[in-house]
Amino acid sequence: STSRVINFGAGPSALPQGVLKKAAQGLLNFNDTGIGIAELSHRSKEFGAFLSNVESLIRTQLDVPPTHSILFTQGGGTAQFSAVVLNLLARHRLLYPDLADEHRVMDYVLTGSWSRKAHDEARRLARGARVNVALDARRHSSDGVSFDNVPPHGEYAFSRAPALIYYCENETIDGVQFSPDPDARTSFPFALLPREPGGLLPLVGDHSSSFMSRPIPHLSEHAVIFAGAQKNLGPAGLTILIVRQDCLVDVDAAARLGATPVPLCLSYRLLAQSKSLYNTPSLLSIYITGLVLEQMRELGGLAYFEALNRTKAEKVYAAIRAGEKRGVFQGKVQAGSGSWMNVVFNALGDGAEARFLEGAEKAGMKGLKGHRSVGGIRASLYNAITEADTDTLVQFMEKFVSEAD
Ligand code: PMP
Repeated sequence: STSRVINFGAGPSALPQGVLKKAAQGLLNFNDTGIGIAELSHRSKEFGAFLSNVESLIRTQLDVPPTHSILFTQGGGTAQFSAVVLNLLARHRLLYPDLADEHRVMDYVLTGSWSRKAHDEARRLARGARVNVALDARRHSSDGVSFDNVPPHGEYAFSRAPALIYYCENETIDGVQFSPDPDARTSFPFALLPREPGGLLPLVGDHSSSFMSRPIPHLSEHAVIFAGAQKNLGPAGLTILIVRQDCLVDVDAAARLGATPVPLCLSYRLLAQSKSLYNTPSLLSIYITGLVLEQMRELGGLAYFEALNRTKAEKVYAAIRAGEKRGVFQGKVQAGSGSWMNVVFNALGDGAEARFLEGAEKAGMKGLKGHRSVGGIRASLYNAITEADTDTLVQFMEKFVSEAD
């Protein structure tokens, strides 16, 4: 059967059906080469042209300035947890070769499970350098232990000249996201960040689960932005990087000065020099991502998706609030910190969660179970989830509330 359910999964997640049909064709014969995309040489001129079009679709829609390279790699967000540490410690070593290791600091902003994991990896790789927690949002949570909020700007404590400043834009598991409104108390505190003498920021953003869902505030000020493709864009197996060119450093020169050697496949400079083709990339994943980006452009680009995603999230949060008034649902995230992409809540009462999930499945909706580490319900509303899909979920939530009396 080719019939499909509505997939609210957190990633890998829903992709647009029209794109998948087109991709099925490309799996047999890519762009009239007579060869399927999974069988084609990554050095072919046809694939080269496709790849540079993918780059320009990202560059134009996200407004990436010429100071930044767009790179494609593998290993997911997890490989980037390591790569950002190694590349930016190498950069710091080249900038300040004589600094004692204990004066090299990496600042981590902890707003959820993914930034915590990245922080843990930084500690593994830091050697003599220090890892500073610039903010721990759990201290500001309603129970003292959960990640359920983005704290106000006054709560951050950045170091003076850190090798990197790390944040995760959207916390996929906890459903916490920075506000896109710069005046909101839950926005990211760009104005407070410690600048380098040249005015640059060593700012690293994990945008895995919000990439291409809305514009990125202060994109041009970032050193590195990374995102796995498997939420808004395509299949797993592709990681997209936006790297400011001063971060494409000679990691071997840094190693000679005492920095940790960097595995070749994690070196940003090598990736850039080889135009993301140092080794074999995931052609299929890049192909489907390119088709999705093309469709995004046709629909009106990020402005279209920003408006759509805002509307979808508002509808689901409104349904949670209506359920809260009747004691049926409980939102898990404080006001102003809720993610547009991953909306998390609890169904209250004995067996209510299982009833909710079973009922949803009967109504043609899957993937609503919260992450195993936090439980509850999670509705992921990535770009391929339509407003009609969202309405189906909201109607089901309303019915669940009305039947609870
Ligand atoms: N960061 C975030 C925000 C994520 O959601 C994920 C995956 N869900 C990761 C990092 C890890 O990515 P990957 O599984 O691609 O390594």
